[in-house]
Amino acid sequence: MTINVTKSFLPPFEEYQEAIKGIWENTWLTNNGPLVRKLEGQLKEYLGVENLLYVGNGTIALQIAVKALELKGEIITTPFSYCATTTAILWENLKPVFVDIEPDTFNIDANLIEAAITEKTSAILATHVYGRPCDVEKIDQIAKKYNLKVIYDGAHSFGATYKGKSVLSYGDVSTCSFHATKVFHTIEGGSVVSNDKDLHTKLELYRSFGHRGDDYYSVGINAKNSEFHAAMGLCNLPKVEDIIDKRRIISEKYDALLNWEKLKRPTQSIAEFEYNYAYYPIILPSEGKLFEVTEALQKEDITPRRYFYPSLNQLPYLDFYNPCPVSESYSLRALSLPLFYDLDLNDVEKISTIINQTL
Ligand SMILES: *Cc1c(COP(=O)(O)O)cnc(C)c1O
Repeated sequence: MTINVTKSFLPPFEEYQEAIKGIWENTWLTNNGPLVRKLEGQLKEYLGVENLLYVGNGTIALQIAVKALELKGEIITTPFSYCATTTAILWENLKPVFVDIEPDTFNIDANLIEAAITEKTSAILATHVYGRPCDVEKIDQIAKKYNLKVIYDGAHSFGATYKGKSVLSYGDVSTCSFHATKVFHTIEGGSVVSNDKDLHTKLELYRSFGHRGDDYYSVGINAKNSEFHAAMGLCNLPKVEDIIDKRRIISEKYDALLNWEKLKRPTQSIAEFEYNYAYYPIILPSEGKLFEVTEALQKEDITPRRYFYPSLNQLPYLDFYNPCPVSESYSLRALSLPLFYDLDLNDVEKISTIINQTL
């Protein structure tokens, strides 16, 4: 049996069938239908946030966030994330300025942000890497001091909390991805949480072509999602706590078995943080070891994933270079191990043994 880095959770077939039944009765397939609104209501309640929009995916969520905040010039961002974090900035013809990451959390190093601020800086766009929150307090302080907006790419953060609040409730805007590979998914999908009603209204306009009926306000885009996607979300949401719990058990097994003399993993020293076990990344001693471990696992039909690779400050289509030694070194050596709700603990043992032996 092939074991991939992830496997999408699927609800019982009959449950999904039941959830989409109404679509055949009302023939309402998309455009802010009853299931989309129901899912939005349940997500707001689950996350404890006031302003949330369900959108097509986590990338368009970032793009409309950058647009709605009317950002200009330069945006300070993290090099250790998925490419969508950087491309959302480039897509709006803005300049990403990369600030290196903290060696323990793998998140943007808030202590390095101020030195990267120029008079062109308009915002900070940071990722809560693997679901672990950035130093939101320090980033908030800096943003207030320099009058910058803060966007968090919270694609990994669904179900994680900090100080009793969803990690997705921090910043001016916080986005999430509900892609099939994430902890909570709606096949494709995402959300935008904003801290302000006017901003929320603006994001809503951008989601739907920039017009309401025959009133045209601005250039918009199609960032909507369908009733079928929302139905999958409605089936999966009640199962999230159980999914996270399964992921915790698997993660703790890896914790107990892997050889930490030779490996490194992200750690977070802050209290009042509850993790969602979004990923299980390890940092190998060298890129050579990463290739050796990958090969040894693949021989047993086990496929880990380089994540994140490359370091985004080294994307080949950038015409400038901001050195970020920690991120560059980590992205050469970071490997995400299989982690999903029904991964067998015997397989975790097998994977750990192969890795330890290869080291
Ligand atoms: C998955 C992911 C995205 C993109 O989300 P999609 O829903 O696939 O568009 C953006 N940023 C990060 C950090 C991600 O992991």
